[in-house]
Amino acid sequence: MSRELRKDILKRAKRVVIKVGSGVISDHESGKVPLERGLSLKRIRSYAKRIKAIADAGYEVILVSSGAIMAGRERLNLKRPNLDIPEKQACAAIGQSFLMRSYEQYFEKQGLKVAQILLGHDDLENRKRYLNIRHTLEALLDHGVIPIVNENDSVTVDEIKIGDNDTLSANVACMAEAHLLILLSDVDGLFTSDPAKANSRSGASSAELISHVDRVTSAIEKLAGKSKNPLAVGGMFTKVLAAKKTMSFGIPTLIINGLKGENLKKVFNGTQVGTLFWSGEAKIKDRKHWIAHTLKPAGSIKIDAGARKALVERGKSLLAAGVVKVDGKFEFGGAVRILDEKGKEIARGLVNYNSRDLDQIKGMKTAAVRSLVGPNFYDEVIHRDDLVLL
Ligand code: GLU
Repeated sequence: MSRELRKDILKRAKRVVIKVGSGVISDHESGKVPLERGLSLKRIRSYAKRIKAIADAGYEVILVSSGAIMAGRERLNLKRPNLDIPEKQACAAIGQSFLMRSYEQYFEKQGLKVAQILLGHDDLENRKRYLNIRHTLEALLDHGVIPIVNENDSVTVDEIKIGDNDTLSANVACMAEAHLLILLSDVDGLFTSDPAKANSRSGASSAELISHVDRVTSAIEKLAGKSKNPLAVGGMFTKVLAAKKTMSFGIPTLIINGLKGENLKKVFNGTQVGTLFWSGEAKIKDRKHWIAHTLKPAGSIKIDAGARKALVERGKSLLAAGVVKVDGKFEFGGAVRILDEKGKEIARGLVNYNSRDLDQIKGMKTAAVRSLVGPNFYDEVIHRDDLVLL
């Protein structure tokens, strides 16, 4: 059952978010204790090769990578377990540029371009910023670039942090409407009990890998426990919570062992590795539900018959050419009603233009809009991904 599901997920997947934790890009081979380990360039080189193969197979890849604080720690030679906030922020600032330099170096060797995106809690909460980030991600992916995302650790303090990159990667997967999230861990997946504990009689561990979780119940959360790895910020617990979030958005999530280099390859071969979190049904995405039912529309846009057809029958975005009338006052990112030529509400969406600008460009062809608007130009008045038909 799980094998069939995995094949099906891969068949439908185009956009994949892969999260690389500190534990899986640290220098395990050095034999140093975890707090003294730095980045393993060997691992980054190996991920670059794997990701090249995934990209060549036609997938769009977004990486979420930890490792900044760990790399900064090593560069400053700070071995104390507890760093204060300014020290952590300093480590993040030093480590992040080293992290990106390393990614750039090895990805370039594979012919891949990378881009850095640093996010904070506010970026996920604020609708305008959220939309801006989505647009940036789309543009990067359109140009075949691999976005590498991390939390903007050097400017956020603990109280207002996203906190861990499992949560961050779940948010990125939802924001980018990815079809699959892969969390690279330093264990094989979720087990029926702690695999590190041996059975007192046989000496062997009786823990079994769970290959498929179709619902994150409190029993599953309990199994995940809390992390023991001093490098891992979240451990299995935050991974399971991340999977719970992505599942509610209809995105399947896999936890696999990233220390076993061949595992990423296996996932894309359809081989059964790790733990798959997936309810098996593509639900209406929460975000679309939020656009259609939660947000209060600030205005309305009346469109012509041609635009209605493009939206309803061909699944297209709304362009300025099809807009005939703008009512109400709204800003960039605001929610609006879309009315057909008879005034009937047919859709809702988030706009890329404020009401004043939209009123000016309505009915215009895209090229004319581009020369009138200049640098703040968007091809679409409402992008398909930000639009819900009612
Ligand atoms: N953002 C942190 C870093 O780059 C890591 C957080 C995490 O591993 O969850 O060091």
